[in-house]
Amino acid sequence: MTGTGILVVGNGPVAHRFVERLRHHGRTDRVTVLDAADSPACHRPLLTSVLDGSLPATAVTLAPPPGDTLLAAGTRAVRIDRARRLVHTEHGDAHRYDRLVLATGATPHVPDLPGLRGPDGRPAPGVSTLRTLADAVRPRGERVTVLGGGVLGVEAALALRRAGHLVTLVHRHAWPLNRRLDRAAGELLAARLAAAGVELRLSTTATGYSPGRLALTRPDGGRGAVEGDALLLCTGAEPATALARAAGLPVRAGVLVDADTRTGDPRVHAIGDCAEHPDEPPGTLRSGWAQAETAARLLATGTARHRPSRPVLRPRTPGLDLAVLGEPEPATPPDETIQLTDAARGRYARLHLTGGRLTGAVLLGWERAIADLVQLHQRDLPVPRDRLALLLGRPTRPATGPVELPDHAVVCHCNNVTAGTLAHAWHAGARSTPELAAATRATTGCGGCARGVEALRAVLAARADTTAPTRQPAGSGR
Ligand SMILES: Cc1cc2nc3c(=O)[nH]c(=O)nc-3n(C[C@H](O)[C@H](O)[C@H](O)COP(=O)(O)OP(=O)(O)OC[C@H]3O[C@@H](n4cnc5c(N)ncnc54)[C@H](O)[C@@H]3O)c2cc1C
Repeated sequence: MTGTGILVVGNGPVAHRFVERLRHHGRTDRVTVLDAADSPACHRPLLTSVLDGSLPATAVTLAPPPGDTLLAAGTRAVRIDRARRLVHTEHGDAHRYDRLVLATGATPHVPDLPGLRGPDGRPAPGVSTLRTLADAVRPRGERVTVLGGGVLGVEAALALRRAGHLVTLVHRHAWPLNRRLDRAAGELLAARLAAAGVELRLSTTATGYSPGRLALTRPDGGRGAVEGDALLLCTGAEPATALARAAGLPVRAGVLVDADTRTGDPRVHAIGDCAEHPDEPPGTLRSGWAQAETAARLLATGTARHRPSRPVLRPRTPGLDLAVLGEPEPATPPDETIQLTDAARGRYARLHLTGGRLTGAVLLGWERAIADLVQLHQRDLPVPRDRLALLLGRPTRPATGPVELPDHAVVCHCNNVTAGTLAHAWHAGARSTPELAAATRATTGCGGCARGVEALRAVLAARADTTAPTRQPAGSGR
């Protein structure tokens, strides 16, 4: 039996953020992390960059947890004994905890269709999912069918296309990303996919699989099939709740928590994809990181007030220029809605404003505007009056120069790089944006933060100029 202190089950990006923030907030006692996987933890949003070959697998692994964290890789937690405050592992040992943090994430959903699973319950030969590094480097043959036209399906289909595969995307709704986009935006996105060479089968329902063949029902109700060497399932993910459920903790879709990440047991917290948080959408990194921050602050300082994340969807697809900010259907109607469709150039924008601030947006094709609009939304800044100029990417920022960010502000969301990390790298000698990218990985994901990194670099340089001691001319006598 080992330890007391804080025990974390899971070693994904949310657990990582939690441990880092716990140290940041000053909690220094023992932290043990159990990870069922025995490979290094990876930053999942970059897996499609491994899939298309633009990043090597080594580039997407997360740095080891900070300092003296004890990481038990290849150690699956199999049972929680809440009465004795013990977590039992598959190896037969047990870890004692003072506080337990569940960060077990989610597992890909495999639809209940004939032929998709083998006798052992795993995906049948030729069928795969995309959640781990091993999934991203799996050989798939020339013709790949992607099932599911949500965010992951769209990103994966385009990544496989870039890697040279012949790709068919099967989606049961009339346009991809139907939960996030209205018809006008969805049809433009479908046109982009088709232009990239992805064959689309929309309004089409998969009915079964046999090796090399996905059976389906066509939009006219007739039966059909797509032939392919491999089938990639992008059909959602299910929170990994088995441990919590077996321990008698309240579970719905995810492990139920309060705003400050407490489960039904005050000594047990749940964060990230495994949790069902009252103020956070499920299954996104931002919401997981916001929960990690709250849990870390609570465990380090004894108090926390959860600050909900602001949802941003930005598929990591070169040239796609798509962003969805906020909730697609806000609970409170906005004061103002601005909508613009420029079908000839494949551009679409819908902005929701309340009190002169951006509460939501769908943007497709506004390459130069997206970064500014994301910043305005994330930081809840007033939107300039000339909305069209904003969309066209003309400078509209208040003339106060680049805004200074607190150290904990995340600048690169793909790689979880904060302003503090960038400043540290800058002071250590990484003075240009490419040098900052090499030192921190900022800008190496979707690239959407490039302007933010450049602005921060400018602030640091300007600050160094004004604080540098003034050189006295030689022989000035002082
Ligand atoms: C290809 C891809 C692209 C994505 N892109 C984006 C994006 O652009 N933006 C975004 O916001 N989100 C994105 N996501 C979702 C995002 O990756 C998840 O929200 C995030 O990974 C959740 O992190 P987590 O730490 O909660 O869980 P996970 O990343 O699932 O990690 C769970 C960890 O728990 C461990 N574990 C599970 N059970 C046990 C157990 N019993 N014992 C010990 N260890 C256990 C696992 O080994 C793993 O280490 C993407 C996901 C994928 C797959």
